[in-house]
Amino acid sequence: MKKLFLIIGAPGSGKTTDASIIAKKHAQNIVHYSTGDMLREEVASGSELGQTIDGFISRGALVPLNIIIDTIISAIKGAPVDNVLIDGYPRSIEQMTALDGILENETDIELVFVIEVRVSEQVAKERILGRAADAKPGEERSDDSVEVFFNRMKIYTDPLAEIQSFYTAKNLLEVINGERTLEVIVEDMDTFIQSKI
Ligand code: AMP
Repeated sequence: MKKLFLIIGAPGSGKTTDASIIAKKHAQNIVHYSTGDMLREEVASGSELGQTIDGFISRGALVPLNIIIDTIISAIKGAPVDNVLIDGYPRSIEQMTALDGILENETDIELVFVIEVRVSEQVAKERILGRAADAKPGEERSDDSVEVFFNRMKIYTDPLAEIQSFYTAKNLLEVINGERTLEVIVEDMDTFIQSKI
């Protein structure tokens, strides 16, 4: 039985960094996948699918539902250990509903909790634009620009209230304050995850 934790947060919330530190610390029983990283890997592979994905990522748009569903379900099913952290999903009502439907029929996967790493838009923007300025040549992300940031932020914010109320009603939403130091955030998230596995 796979135990799934979904980690959501604005671009720049630090969700990928937090989750990867926790998975590294507990490598024997936790694995972490970032939807953005998995999609970028597909782009980097140069495949036809990767080229399609690139067309969405570079303008900060969401990739189509079937692509992201295939990506996360194969990651969960292929995970080498039972506790799986996925960050970056769901990012729309459609994605939330689709996963909910899949989980109803999927006896091998249990959604344990959704963790929201919460930061203000101002903090998110400062972090993203700081990351763009600090990127080494060749390692820049095509979507870390001011214009694309606002698009990604809007896409994140628009469905957020509905996503929050959906999981709150199921008693499955935990909010973590992402504006503290990395160490404190990771500690908080780790303690929470450990209490649920
Ligand atoms: P991130 O690294 O989480 O900021 O994601 C980078 C980009 O990957 C996003 O702006 C989207 O283009 C794409 N992406 C990541 N997660 C999803 C998702 N759940 N659904 C659709 N597209 C996604």
